Parts: sequence; C-alpha cells; structure tokens
Amino acid sequence: MTNEFSLHWFRQDLRLSDNSSLNYLSQKHKRIVCVFIYDQVNCNRKLGSASKTWLHYSLLYLNNKLNNNLLIFKGDPEFIFLDLIKQNKITEISWNRCYEPWRVERDKLLKKTLRKHVEVKTFNGSLLWEPWEVLKADSTPYKIFTPFYQKGCLTKKPPRKPISNNFSFFDHKIKSLSVTGLKLLDKLGWENKVINHWEIGESFAEKQMNNFLKEGLGDYSHGRNFPNKLNVSRISPYLHWGQISPNTLWYEAEKLQQDVETINIDIFKSELGWREFFYNLMFHFPNIQSKNLQIKFDKFPWESNDEFLKSWQKGLTGYPIIDAGMRELWKTGYMHNRLRMITGSFLVKNLLLHWHHGEKWFWDCLFDADYASNSASWQWVAGTGTDAAPYFRIFNPITQGKKFDPEGEYIKKYVPELKNIPHKYLYTPWECPSEILSEINLKLGVDYPFPIVDIKLSRAKALKAFSILKK
Ligand SMILES: Cc1cc2nc3c(=O)[nH]c(=O)nc-3n(C[C@H](O)[C@H](O)[C@H](O)COP(=O)(O)OP(=O)(O)OC[C@H]3O[C@@H](n4cnc5c(N)ncnc54)[C@H](O)[C@@H]3O)c2cc1C
Repeated sequence: MTNEFSLHWFRQDLRLSDNSSLNYLSQKHKRIVCVFIYDQVNCNRKLGSASKTWLHYSLLYLNNKLNNNLLIFKGDPEFIFLDLIKQNKITEISWNRCYEPWRVERDKLLKKTLRKHVEVKTFNGSLLWEPWEVLKADSTPYKIFTPFYQKGCLTKKPPRKPISNNFSFFDHKIKSLSVTGLKLLDKLGWENKVINHWEIGESFAEKQMNNFLKEGLGDYSHGRNFPNKLNVSRISPYLHWGQISPNTLWYEAEKLQQDVETINIDIFKSELGWREFFYNLMFHFPNIQSKNLQIKFDKFPWESNDEFLKSWQKGLTGYPIIDAGMRELWKTGYMHNRLRMITGSFLVKNLLLHWHHGEKWFWDCLFDADYASNSASWQWVAGTGTDAAPYFRIFNPITQGKKFDPEGEYIKKYVPELKNIPHKYLYTPWECPSEILSEINLKLGVDYPFPIVDIKLSRAKALKAFSILKK
C-alpha cells in the first residue's frame, strides 16, 4: 500500500535525537509521519503564558526540521486520531509517555480505543527510571529523597544509554493547522520580549548543555549556589519540553570523569535525581498540585493580602535579593534555584501567603514550568511536602543575599535602582543614612520601596503560626 505510514505523536519530547518512540518506529517502518496535538480538552491545568510561548517557538523549529511535515491539530486526541485512521492507511501509532495525572488517565483510555484499529506502542522518553519501577521493598512509594535516590534509583539498572538515528519523514499531503493557527502567543504580551533571552529548539538545547559541561560543571558543587556564577546549566526549559533527554545529560556528564572532580558530576546527577523524585511523587500522589501532602497543613491559618502578593510578584518587597529574584523571573522567564528557595520562603513564611499563590505565579512565568517539579518544590518550600524544608527553616533574605551574592552583582543587575548605594547598605537599603541617599539621589519609598514586612517580626509570627501544627 503506497500511502501506508506510521505515526509518532510528539508531546513533551520535542526532539529527534534519543527519542525512544521515533527510534522504534524507524526500525519497523519506512514511512513516519509526526503529529502534535494541542489538547486543551482533557487537561485540567492549562499551560501558563511562558510555556505557551516556548511551545510556539519549539513547534516552529521542529516543523522546520521536518521539512514542514509536522501535522498540527488542536482538540481531543481521540477524535483526531480516529479521523486520521479513517482517512489514511496508518499501521501503527507510538509516543513517549507523560506522567501528569490527567495525561495518564487520558492516555490509558486512548490506547484502549486506538488498539481496536491500529497497533499502539508507548515508551519512556523523559525519565531515567519509570515511577512504578522505583518503589520501597514493601512496594509503597518513597517519600524521602535520599533513600529514593540512593537505594531506589542507584541500585537499579543504570538509565538507558542515549541512541540517535537519522530519520526520513514521509512527505504526506494531509492538511492540518499551522503553528500560528494554535494561537499560542498572546498579542503584545510580556512573553514576546522575555523570549529574546533564549534560543529555542533541539540544537540550542545541545549548545546549552555543551556550554555548561565546558564552563559550569567543573565547579558545580559549590558554584551552583551563586546566582551570578555560570555554574548551573539553565537547561530546565529544554528538559521540560524534551528538547534534550535526561539520559543525554546524565551520560554526557559521566563522560567527563577524567577532567572533572567526581563530586561535581555526582551532585549534578543527583539534581537530575530530584527531578525524578518529583515525577515519582506526582505519579503516586496525583493531587500534588492542589492538596498539601501533609494534611495537617490544611488547618494552617494562611493570610490573604493582595498588596503583599503584588509586591512579591513585581519584585517590590524592599528586600533586594528577593526583588532581584522576582525580577529575574519577570525579565528572563527563569529564576536560579537558590532564588526560587529564598523568594518561596519569603512568600509563605514572611508574608504567610498560601504556597498556591507562588505555584501559580511560577507556573505562568517560568519557561520551565513543570507540573511535578513546580508543585513538589512549592510543597518543599512551604514544609507541606513529604520531604520538605522544616517549618522553622525560614531563609533570612539579608544573610542569604550577603552569602550568595557577596559582590552584589546579581542584585545590581536586576535592581539597578541600587547600583550606586554603598555596598554596606546594599542588602539593607533602609539603613542607609539620609545624607548618602540624597548624595546618590535615591529616594526610598519612591525609587525603591521600604521593606513591606519587618523580617524579625514576620519570622516570629510565622514560627508561632507554624508551631500550632506541632500540637
Ligand atoms: C519554588 C520552586 C519552584 C520550582 N519550579 C520548577 C519548575 O517549574 N520546573 C523545573 O524544572 N524546576 C523547578 N524547580 C527546581 C529547580 O529550581 C530548577 O529545576 C532549576 O533551578 C533549573 O535550573 P537549571 O536547569 O540551571 O538547573 P541545574 O542546576 O543545571 O540542574 C540540571 C537539571 O536538574 C534538575 N534539577 C535541578 N535542581 C532541581 C531541583 N531542586 N528540583 C528538581 N529538579 C532539579 C532540573 O531538571 C535542571 O534543569 C523549582 C524549585 C523551587 C524551589
């Protein structure tokens, strides 16, 4: 049959290299057609603005790589596939698995329906270990990272080695939408400016990885804590969208064993392990985004204060390191991990606002917004998760700033209002004498805010509120 072909369904695996489903199809079938479906019918969490923008540019790149042969649809995959099967000779459909609860449910039903018509195969394309493979001896899920990673993951078979192939994609004549037809970009939105900080597509993911392996990995264990150093990979958006596989990162880092101290490689791999842990938690605790994993927190007396929330979102809290982190997010669609922890702690502990507010803001603004890592990390920060920062760990934004941005370069980059303030007052501008403020022409309360809360009082209030839960 001349018009016979097999279908690969792209989801969060927007790459051609080390793509398990594509590799499988290419061994069996001469003709492969690729499809992307923007499914807003089944999903219970719509993509945030930053994610939609990343997706838009990723699809443009991918379609270009496929000589404009990417089929693009919007709607319910069940109807779209059944229609494609009716109109064409499709021998087999395959995809790489996703793990968000709504996708797991959808895909289970879809597989059952499609198997009445064609062969269907699914693969692991985005995790090092499947969530159902890493369980405790009593077959229950791990709740604490260290045993999960050390006993659960590292004693298992090592992750699959990456494989890459060349594919020739079938030049089909099937009509579908264009990338622009998906209307992923908000007109005149903030995202269109922010995206200029990034180059999007598989080859740029590889470039990002190679830069990191060359410049960052060598001092990863220490340097990864300092937001102004180039020791983290900033690969998370590519990893989230599958423009690079975790397997490639894992083995490319391992290859540097001769040149890089083992501790740096091990810590980098264990950070990939945190990602695995959060996917594992999401798989076994599918309410992770909406419900406290520790239910005693359901009784916690969170406060409600729109002004505080807005000041936090816009980077106008009066605490320079917090404001720098929040503005890095707003300007670049990314925030360094250290800052995610400090700004998160400030929101839930000093402002006593529910972690859902932070989770939602990050979901909308991060290019790496990830259902598992974002929800689980917010639960970690709030202390509501299974393996979480204890309630009494409240990051002090003044000492954190001094420790992790000792030269103040990061603060000055994102809070330029403070660029002329003497270093002594950079972390506490409200302590700067008025003569100096007028000399540098900085009006506190006008050019830069006074702190919205007192750090000592808000800490004491949080400790009191959290201590109720001990009873
Ligand atoms: C409140 C909060 C929200 C977060 N939301 C997200 C999110 O939506 N998406 C997301 O990918 N990560 C999230 N993280 C985890 C972490 O901050 C980012 O993965 C990391 O900053 C990405 O930067 P990088 O690629 O330069 O990391 P690198 O240090 O270069 O690490 C490489 C990769 O390992 C994984 N990784 C590293 N640290 C962590 C971690 N602590 N937890 C889970 N995975 C990790 C990431 O996939 C990362 O890309 C969040 C953390 C916090 C505290």
